[in-house]
Amino acid sequence: MAIQSQHQASLGNEKDKLIGKLSGDVTGNFTGKATGTGTGSVKGNFSEVFAALDIDRWRLGLYSATAADVERALRAPAGRLDALMALLSPAAEPYLEQMAQQSVRLTRKRFGANIGMYLPLYLSNLCANECDYCGFSMVNKIKRKTLNDAEIGREIALIQAMGYDSVLLVSGEHETKVGMDYFRRVLPQVKSAFSYLAMEVQPLSEADYAELVSLGLDAVMVYQETYQRRTYSEHHTRGKKTDFIWRLDTPDRLARAGVDKIGLGVLLGLDDWRLDALIMGHHLQYLENRYWRSRYSISLPRLRPCTGGVAPKTEISDRGLVQMICAFRLFSESLDISLSTRERPDFRDNLFALGITQTSAGSATSPGGYSEPDTHLDQFEISDERSAATIASVLKSRGLNPVWKDWESGWHGECA
Ligand code: SF4
Repeated sequence: MAIQSQHQASLGNEKDKLIGKLSGDVTGNFTGKATGTGTGSVKGNFSEVFAALDIDRWRLGLYSATAADVERALRAPAGRLDALMALLSPAAEPYLEQMAQQSVRLTRKRFGANIGMYLPLYLSNLCANECDYCGFSMVNKIKRKTLNDAEIGREIALIQAMGYDSVLLVSGEHETKVGMDYFRRVLPQVKSAFSYLAMEVQPLSEADYAELVSLGLDAVMVYQETYQRRTYSEHHTRGKKTDFIWRLDTPDRLARAGVDKIGLGVLLGLDDWRLDALIMGHHLQYLENRYWRSRYSISLPRLRPCTGGVAPKTEISDRGLVQMICAFRLFSESLDISLSTRERPDFRDNLFALGITQTSAGSATSPGGYSEPDTHLDQFEISDERSAATIASVLKSRGLNPVWKDWESGWHGECA
């Protein structure tokens, strides 16, 4: 008994020190540097901050949080890493209903009833990386395809016919065949058809991003997959993606290049989702404070079956995903939270109102997938196969407003 009490006291001391440190991060390390910096003048990258993190202590903090910590967090969650830690912890599970109510209220206050609609356009499934959870991994013996101009034109016409004005260009990571030369050709073609153009491709240099911005790029999604280095190395075994730090510092390069919106994400299931989510929250806060001209989004994909894919190491339950969405909304009111078609229809319908601000519907996850469905070139299986029109009806039936266009580049240029 005495030993247990001593152990609990020591856990408490460790946690108090950690929470003091987390609160200090919020108020001290970065906020003061934000004034007057938008892009260009900031030195250093997140990897330097990351190197100083004591991840074992963060894990300890997550798993020793108490009901009192959660209640304190619910009273003042905005921008506080110590609150995010409590809200992501197992101790917050009994408070899910309260978190959901706060999340709905904050989301409606900041975003109204609007849900932005976007669709992925897969350009290529060529990839020079080996990632054991992905259908495009270089070791998988699948037919490889990169769309040419005419094929992209056909995909664009079909996406427009569904009503979309916002598109996410996706490709495997192949520097030579699907690199800057290809993007220089493709971006003007796509941008002439859509108001908002996002990309999810290999991490590029700051100069390359700046050039793509001049060609119409508005947003970039870059998944770190996991912030836990050993796990990262286990799943990324060949190719440029093995460089954890190059990937980790990509959002810094994006912000300095003037990209309007930067998306972060972890692949839920590769490792402990609570810890990955907490470190992503730290990354988000670092970026928001440092590069205040950019906007930010997160995506929360759960590992899905694919060709040659691995099983999740840790499952995140439906309730866990709800907890994570609500925790991030309470942490950051202005954060875009994206929901993809990886989730089941009934579950998606219930999630839309909780804190989600962007979604896709009717997605294909293979190059040319809208013109030629069923080619078996998919990156992963999707779960919700309902059309864009059906999802729009579902949103309206729940008092939400599907928004097909909320962006005009000219407005941004005038205000900059
Ligand atoms: S996750 Fe990305 S980098 Fe890895 S194999 Fe798939 S497409 Fe390539």
